[in-house]
Amino acid sequence: MHTNNEIPAYENIFILSNGQFKCGDQSNESRIKFFENGYRKCVKCDSDKIIKTEHKAACRWNGDAYGTDVFICNECKWITSFQWDEGGDSPYYYETEYFTKKLNN
Ligand SMILES: [Zn+2]
Repeated sequence: MHTNNEIPAYENIFILSNGQFKCGDQSNESRIKFFENGYRKCVKCDSDKIIKTEHKAACRWNGDAYGTDVFICNECKWITSFQWDEGGDSPYYYETEYFTKKLNN
């Protein structure tokens, strides 16, 4: 599923000024676990029924878009989000750059 410029009412939503947002479980503990399992398994109930919804915030002049992906477990409704950016040298989910550094140190 892919939606443009429209932010639904997710749990614990925090909207950033550029149109990206964070929602659901934003704890490092959960998000690092989810990152390590490849965004495939719920960190609360271990289900692999994860539904990803991509939200595009905007496009830059060069065509690179940025936005937020929301991941919801279809079993227990655990939810988290990761911000993405098609541009730059950082990973697509650029918040995970910090996770990798943390894991390597
Ligand atoms: Zn779950």
